Amino acid sequence: GNRIRLDGVRKTFNEGSVVACDDVNIEIDEGEFVVLVGPSGCGKTTTLRCIAGLEEPDRGSITVDGEDITGLKSKDRNLAFVFQSIALFPHMSVRKNIRFGLDMNTDLSSEEKRRRVEDVAETLGLSEALDRKPSALSGGQQQRVSLGRAMVMEPAAFLLDEPFSALDANLRDHMRVEVKKIQRELHTAMIFVTHDQEEAMTLGDKIVVMNNGYVQQIGTPYEIYNEPANRFVAGFIGSPSPNLVECTVERTADGIALASDFYTIPATETQAERLESLVGETVIYGIRPEYLDLQIDRGAFVADLDVVEPLGDRDAVHLSAGGTDLSAVTPQGEIARDTDRVHVDIQTEEAWLFEEDGTRIV
Ligand code: ADP
Ligand code: MG
Repeated sequence: GNRIRLDGVRKTFNEGSVVACDDVNIEIDEGEFVVLVGPSGCGKTTTLRCIAGLEEPDRGSITVDGEDITGLKSKDRNLAFVFQSIALFPHMSVRKNIRFGLDMNTDLSSEEKRRRVEDVAETLGLSEALDRKPSALSGGQQQRVSLGRAMVMEPAAFLLDEPFSALDANLRDHMRVEVKKIQRELHTAMIFVTHDQEEAMTLGDKIVVMNNGYVQQIGTPYEIYNEPANRFVAGFIGSPSPNLVECTVERTADGIALASDFYTIPATETQAERLESLVGETVIYGIRPEYLDLQIDRGAFVADLDVVEPLGDRDAVHLSAGGTDLSAVTPQGEIARDTDRVHVDIQTEEAWLFEEDGTRIV
């Protein structure tokens, strides 16, 4: 059980003048790791707070296993919320911090409470730290204590709002793996909010991309990466960002082509079919950096090399062609950093096409 469903959830503020989220439809299966991702202000926290019962939606419903919980108080929802800031009680031991919710919200026997606290501490590697004060712990341990407080409640799902945003980069990477391992072990659903697309990709079984209060796409990390539903998703996911180039659809002797400021790109057969009705119109040509091939001596067009940015095993190569900035990704060291000009080929069958309003064409 424990399948959570949001149906048409809308929440506004300031007498309806601020639409924080609207028409949100999401299903979270038992044990699923769902990540809500999108830029700051897109409605992630509000959506999560509606699920938690900390906000009352203007419209729509939230159900758990078909039972409507939209009207239930937060404490009656059996969902555990882990906040952005850690907020442990500094004067209490780790043990008391973890037990706090059990003391406040349940009438379990003290034996049962002790069992739960010790089990959770064991899972989180905190057994040795139970009698210490939070100030004696590292940042990562403190974050685990705050997770432990949620875990002892044995909730139907965990709701986490940017829980790692205060941690430094190395610790954040470590905590991601920890949380993913814990979630696998507990097999409890997690709804995890982040503005960081990389964090979303590494954590989510299912990713919900939001923008301006609306869900843009729901899919696995691979679906979101390979088949973005619209221009927004294409531009938001992936680093370096994909190339998104304005082109005019033209009819040529050979068929259909896409004319940009720097190169007229022949359309593939599949693309040409969909572009027949759009001759003369502007479309957006989207192509990931890894699908630009760079050569020193020959290629479809020439570009100036601006910056080579080492990423580790690969380099991001930033180019400009006819005033348009482009990015490519190459194996480490393939393009020397002092190169002035390169020839570029496009793997055209990997391209996406969007209408000017961002709608995916093909
Ligand atoms: P995110 O978590 O994605 O950054 P939020 O859900 O916090 O986005 O906010 C979505 C929008 O709703 C923003 O424009 C924000 O300013 C607005 N908002 C959120 N909470 C309130 C509130 N309590 N009162 C007024 N506006 C709010
Ligand atoms: Mg937020």
